[in-house]
Amino acid sequence: MQRTLSILKPDVTRRNLTGAVNERIEKSDLRIIAQKRIQLSLEQAQKFYAVHRERAFFNDLCDFMVTGPVVVQVLEGNNAVDNYRTVMGATNPANAEEGTIRRDFAESIEANSVHGSDSAENAAIEISFFFSEMEIVG
Ligand code: ATP
Ligand code: MG
Repeated sequence: MQRTLSILKPDVTRRNLTGAVNERIEKSDLRIIAQKRIQLSLEQAQKFYAVHRERAFFNDLCDFMVTGPVVVQVLEGNNAVDNYRTVMGATNPANAEEGTIRRDFAESIEANSVHGSDSAENAAIEISFFFSEMEIVG
């Protein structure tokens, strides 16, 4: 069993696709063991994406992440980190496999519908950024 942090990005909440994306998650052997809808502040977005602060897209990405509510989630399952990244599809929806969340829902490489942790180590850091242990019910 492994945990990963998922974020349904503002393009998902704006288009009322929270349930449609969650259906993909739950059909993929991942359990949503914590979930909340929040409005990120610009400071929080910049802190969350701090690893990308030198990248050209950093400011636009942070601006996008505060354009509307996000749904932050903890997902649990076998090999949850890699499993969820497979379910999400490639960062650029144009390169994402058919049947993936990003291929089917993403608007662009920036508004690409979902975030998923990229390693078990980062998952633990990202989960504790948003959730206390009391809020996670496996
Ligand atoms: P995430 O971390 O959101 O799960 P990822 O690991 O597939 O996505 P990263 O390289 O970590 O991709 O980039 C983080 C986010 O930054 C992407 O999800 C996307 O929203 C945005 N992003 C990445 N590359 C670009 C780009 N070239 N132009 C615009 N936005 C980008
Ligand atoms: Mg990433």
